[in-house]
Amino acid sequence: MAEFMDLESQDAVRMPWNVLPGTKQEAANCVVPIASIYTPLKPFPNMPVLPYSPLRCRNCRSALNPFSIVDFLSKIWICPFCLHRNHFPPHYHSISDDNLPAELFPQYTTIEYESPSEKSAVPPVFMFVVDTCMIEEEIGFLKSALSQAVGLVPENSLVGLITFGTHVHVHELGFGQIPKVYVFKGSKELTKDQVLEQMNFFMKKPKPSAGVIAGVRDGLSQETIARFLLPASECEFALNSVLEELQKDPWPVSADQRATRCTGMALSVAAHLLGACVPGSGARIMAFVGGPSTEGPGAIVSKIMSEPIRSHKDLDKDSAPYYHKAVKFYGGLSKLLVHQGHVLDLFACALDQVGVAEVKIAVERTGGLVVLAESFGHSVFKDSFRRIFQSGDYDLGLSSNGVFEVNCSKDVKVQGVIGPCASLEKKGPLCSETVVGQGNTTAWKMCGLDKA
Ligand SMILES: [Zn+2]
Repeated sequence: MAEFMDLESQDAVRMPWNVLPGTKQEAANCVVPIASIYTPLKPFPNMPVLPYSPLRCRNCRSALNPFSIVDFLSKIWICPFCLHRNHFPPHYHSISDDNLPAELFPQYTTIEYESPSEKSAVPPVFMFVVDTCMIEEEIGFLKSALSQAVGLVPENSLVGLITFGTHVHVHELGFGQIPKVYVFKGSKELTKDQVLEQMNFFMKKPKPSAGVIAGVRDGLSQETIARFLLPASECEFALNSVLEELQKDPWPVSADQRATRCTGMALSVAAHLLGACVPGSGARIMAFVGGPSTEGPGAIVSKIMSEPIRSHKDLDKDSAPYYHKAVKFYGGLSKLLVHQGHVLDLFACALDQVGVAEVKIAVERTGGLVVLAESFGHSVFKDSFRRIFQSGDYDLGLSSNGVFEVNCSKDVKVQGVIGPCASLEKKGPLCSETVVGQGNTTAWKMCGLDKA
C-alpha cells in the first residue's frame, strides 16, 4: 500500500495497478482495468519551478524527463516514448553526467515549468448572472453575498453583471452617471453578432467584414470592453448601487403559472459578451438561479403550473418533452465556452427543481462548480461562495485554461478521460477504438480546474 501512497505524493497519480501487463493475454485477464486518477494541481511543497520552457521531442512532443536516455558525448537524448533521437539545443551544451538540468534528476518525475513569456497578463474575469424571479427575501440574501464577493476578488479582476427574469438585462457598469442597461427579449435566441450589434459594439468602429471579434487584439478597443467589464476596485460603487436598486422581476405572474425565467438566454448573452471581450482568458460565468427556466432556449418546463417538472422517472422513460431540446442547447453553449476557454459555475438555490440535469453538460465540460442549496441565505451557499474567493491554506486554488495531454509508448492505447474536461479532438495512433468517457483524442481542454 505504501508504494501507492508514495507514487501519489510524488506524481499525483493513483493507479489500481502499479505494474502494466506485459502481454495482451495478461491485459485481458485484468479484472480491474488499467486506469489512473490524476490530480493536475496537487500541491507539492518541494516541487522545483524551472524558469524556462520544457524541451520537447521533435517527433511526439513529449518533454525531456528522467527516463530519457542521454548521450552526453554526442549531446543527444532518446525519447522514451517514441525512441526518436533528439539533439540538445545550444544552451544545454554544458550538460554532463555530473551537471544535469533539474528535469533529468531521477526524483523529479513531475516538474513545473514557468517560462517568462507565458505569464498571463489578463486578470481573472467574473461575470455575475443573477436571476430576479425570486421573493424579495432571497434577492436580499443574494445581494449581500454578491457585494461581499466584489470586496473579496483580486482588485484588478474584471467584473460584469447581467440580471434576468422575463428579459435579460446587461448592465453597463462603466457608464458612470446613471445606471444603464441593454435589454434582450428572453424568448428568442440571438447570434453573437446580433448581441454585439444591439449593445452598440460597432457604433464608433464598424464591424470588420471578415473574421471574428476577439478582444483587444482583434477589433475591440479597451474602451468598449470597459463599458461592461471593469476592474473590481473601480466598479464597486456602480455595482453596489445597481444591486441596491435590484428588484424582483416586475412582470406579473398569475397564481396558476410559473415565473417567466429565461436562464438559457441570459447565459448565452453572457457567453457571447465574454467571447467578444476576453476570449482565451480565465473568465467565469457565475449563474445564480432561483428556479426552473421556463422561457426561450434551454427551458425545462412550461409556464403552466399544472404541468409538473420532469421527474427521474420521466427522464428514465424518455418522456420529458423539454429535456432533449434543452440538453442540445446547453451542449452548444458548452462547446462555445470551451472554445473561448471560459467556465460556467451554477449556484442553484430553490426548494423546487431548477434543471441542473440539463445544464450539467456545460458546467462539467468547462470544469465549473455547482452549489445546490434551498436558499441563498443558507450557510451551504454562503460558505461555498466565500470559499471561491478567499485565499489561504484552504482555498480552492482556482485556475483556468489548462490543456491535459497524454503521451505513451506504442503498446499502450488511450481509451478516454472521465472528468471535468472537454475533448480537443487530437486523434492519432495512440487512441483506442474502445472509448471510455471522452475518447478518440489524446488531448483535453480544462477551462477551469482546482486543487482538489
Ligand atoms: Zn518522442
